Amino acid sequence: MRFPSTLLEFQAQFPDDDHCWAYLRRIRWPRGFLCPRCGSRGSHFLASRRLEQCRACRYQSSVTAGTVFHGTRVPLRVWFLGVFFLARHKKGISALQFQRDTGVGSYQTAWALLHKLRSGLSNLPAPLLKGDVEADETYIGGYREGLNGRGAGKTGVAIIVERRGRTAGSARLAVIPRATTAVLTSFVQGAIQPQEATVHTDAWRSYTALSKMGIDHRPRKGGHGRHALDGLPWAHTVFGNLKTWLRGTFHGVSPKHLQRYLDEFVFRFDRRWKETEIFPRVLHCAIDADPFPYHHLTAERTG
Ligand SMILES: [Zn+2]
Repeated sequence: MRFPSTLLEFQAQFPDDDHCWAYLRRIRWPRGFLCPRCGSRGSHFLASRRLEQCRACRYQSSVTAGTVFHGTRVPLRVWFLGVFFLARHKKGISALQFQRDTGVGSYQTAWALLHKLRSGLSNLPAPLLKGDVEADETYIGGYREGLNGRGAGKTGVAIIVERRGRTAGSARLAVIPRATTAVLTSFVQGAIQPQEATVHTDAWRSYTALSKMGIDHRPRKGGHGRHALDGLPWAHTVFGNLKTWLRGTFHGVSPKHLQRYLDEFVFRFDRRWKETEIFPRVLHCAIDADPFPYHHLTAERTG
């Protein structure tokens, strides 16, 4: 199946909603309709209501049932554009810009649509990281960078990122309640292949438990002035890019929704060399994701 890589290709491939429905149908039922009730193949398409009716048991179902597109009133083509922007724009897109570009009815609709697409990304398998990895934390919020080091009133974010010579490999980012031993060690443990990773950190005491867990841990000894010369170049680079992105694209993000933005960031970061994979992955995530009711989101006027 072909995937659009420019806006012109997108328009050619998805000139209207019918093309989007047909595309979705091919992805969901590659060998033709499969009745969720009786397992038969073969259906009548009830075009006016866009429902498939099983030839055997007459059960009616929709290609969007059980996906994030379920019950949507927004044209499928607008959803597909959301997928396209999330996938093709290096920096994603803000709800405000998306509303302007697509003309959807309200900011809230645009905001919820993008968050629903992001929510699917967290279902992607996240391979465990290996080799030399850097672990660190930072604080995000208020857009005045931490004057007092670890915290106060900001949202903590932990990172693990692979060092691959002169570049970085994959990364994982998570919102953390605080930078304690329990929180940081369980984050590190959950993100790496313990027998195949060497974890580099600064001298922060919460990381010292890692070696007791049998993990090859190389803390940077001594050196005050944290974040100056603690030997974690990739962690700092990724944090810098993350903050620039959040500030530039979204003008601040609520802590409640931050993890979904982190998921979007990591999704693109890990696939930055394989751009052609991105569009179908976001679309597949949207299809695999559970319907995500709006009231789960409780919109705030940020992001
Ligand atoms: Zn049936």
